[in-house]
Amino acid sequence: MSNPNIHKEAMFKLSYGLFVLTAEEGGKDNGCIINTCIQATEDPTTVIVAVNKAGLTHDMIVRTKRFNISMLDESAPMAVFEHFGFQSGKEVNKFETPVYGAEKSENGVYYLTRHTNAFLSGFVTEMIDMGSHTLFIATVVKAQKLADTASVTYDYYFKNIKPAPAPKAKGWVCKICGYVYEGEELPADYICPLCKHPASDFEKIM
Ligand code: FE
Repeated sequence: MSNPNIHKEAMFKLSYGLFVLTAEEGGKDNGCIINTCIQATEDPTTVIVAVNKAGLTHDMIVRTKRFNISMLDESAPMAVFEHFGFQSGKEVNKFETPVYGAEKSENGVYYLTRHTNAFLSGFVTEMIDMGSHTLFIATVVKAQKLADTASVTYDYYFKNIKPAPAPKAKGWVCKICGYVYEGEELPADYICPLCKHPASDFEKIM
């Protein structure tokens, strides 16, 4: 299963940003938190986005080819991550009210104007099946700066935004992002609602 030559501690040293990925399909709006969006080329401007297949936003983008990426800044509170990362668009309408200054860009997809410093609109030109994730290769059709604030990194999130787990918490903690699942038994098919890692990346809180 896991390769002993691959130390997770080493993989954690890779740096990431944190973004709200949004989509729209047939009048339904949705969004999720992702940590993998990189600019691939400048001319034309393209990005590569990795999205877990378990989420609804993934399926919407597969069908519509359109998405926005809102780039979170260091002012983003835990509530942003809870709103977009800890609940599923299959169960709740995350845009029932236009949260965090949500506005629509020309492609009909929401982007956030609060706790963000820029957004981009992507149009998918290629999709690569990576197993748990799909890699979307997309042309950037719009990109706009919203503020001069510092972008939040995964490292910053860990150190400054994510609350430390309560010492007496009972349950299972995600070793990747620290999310705590409260319950005696962790379902085998459980997927971390924040970082989308599987049950094997959780450990029981002793
Ligand atoms: Fe996690």
